Amino acid sequence: MLTTPTFSTVRSEISGLCIKDLVSEFGTPLYVYDQSVIDKRIDDLSAFDRIRYAQKANSNLAILDRMRRKGVVVDAVSAGEIRRAMAAGFSTDPTKHEIIYTADIFDHEALKLVLEHHLPVNCGSPDMIGQIGSQRPGAEITLRINPGFGHGHSQKTNTGGEQSKHGIWHEQVDQCLIDADHHGLMVSGLHMHIGSGTDLEHLSAVCESMEKTALKVGRTLRTISAGGGLPVPYKSDETYVDLDQYFALWDATRNRLGETFGHRLDLEIEPGRYLSAEAGFLIAEVRSVKKVGKNLFALVDAGFNDMARPVMYGAHHPISVCGAKGDVSSRESVDVIIGGPLCESGDIFTQREGGFVESRSLPMPFVGDFITIENAGAYGFVMASNYNSKTRAAEVLIENGKAKLIRQRETFDDLIRGEQIPEIG
Ligand SMILES: *Cc1c(COP(=O)(O)O)cnc(C)c1O
Repeated sequence: MLTTPTFSTVRSEISGLCIKDLVSEFGTPLYVYDQSVIDKRIDDLSAFDRIRYAQKANSNLAILDRMRRKGVVVDAVSAGEIRRAMAAGFSTDPTKHEIIYTADIFDHEALKLVLEHHLPVNCGSPDMIGQIGSQRPGAEITLRINPGFGHGHSQKTNTGGEQSKHGIWHEQVDQCLIDADHHGLMVSGLHMHIGSGTDLEHLSAVCESMEKTALKVGRTLRTISAGGGLPVPYKSDETYVDLDQYFALWDATRNRLGETFGHRLDLEIEPGRYLSAEAGFLIAEVRSVKKVGKNLFALVDAGFNDMARPVMYGAHHPISVCGAKGDVSSRESVDVIIGGPLCESGDIFTQREGGFVESRSLPMPFVGDFITIENAGAYGFVMASNYNSKTRAAEVLIENGKAKLIRQRETFDDLIRGEQIPEIG
């Protein structure tokens, strides 16, 4: 079983490459991904028949390409994600199921693309069944079920239970099966994703609920999906889930159902953050260190326009310091609040849920040093915005000891593309 890594507050390199060199080549703020970490995480899950990456966690084309080469397939939750997956080389051959559209609604654009490319659909709302069924009778679909309970590290990441907008409510499954039948749709898969931070106790409840639902669907079932939500430790008191036990619980469920149905079921897993979070680093330069009353602030050139998780969920990320000149490990530790450049008082990387600002004990930072926000590879760049007319950061992939640019830093032209000033009158 994987043990929680120790998070050091001192870091001068990423995967053997010096942070100062990365910054002088690519500038700041800079997202850096370590391909070897992604590869390792994919290998961790090799017991499952299929790893379906929830690309919303990090959908850079290069990342998707590398995952595809390792045999990973993808989810798409929007028309844009369908197009991304295609651009990264995933096949739309309907027999391969490399891209599945999985969402709680079809917007018009997504429905058009799904129909055009005959993509498989995982329906998260009863309405989707009629919408796909009336246009593509006879198709195979899978259903995402809300089992009536959930689990997440915050209200905003809990994806099961009555408060959640996701999935088909478990009490409506019977009606959905009737509707699917009415359109001649075949339900070939079931899916449950109850949020991130899954623990094994919740998991056996999920497996039980999956089994019950699967027996309702019956022998048309070919696949069950364990959903996503494999936790990643962001703090030293958090742990990984025991993957062997996790697999064993799902495997037993799959096998029991297989025996009942008389054919083997495929077992999918659908991780997002597990594959990409720990591979990612956001590097920013310290531009001001100032005392404010009793607080010490270090303000850096990345803000919540680059990384929104702390502001959105009070998410905790490990943070380390890299000295502009020399090693920082001999510097005294200070309690410091790390903030960004935005004209918004919530632009703070060290905060708890609810917006309470916290300080972090770090080696004393000085202007010109670099701060690295770690475990930033999932829900990092993909949530970046142009707020305050900031251009989005560059992204770099480290692979085989080389740093490769995988997304150019945005320019002012990118920022105003599509805007126009109409004539007066
Ligand atoms: C977001 C999402 C996931 C992945 O969640 P993680 O917590 O990143 O593993 C998996 N499945 C679906 C349907 C999702 O929406």
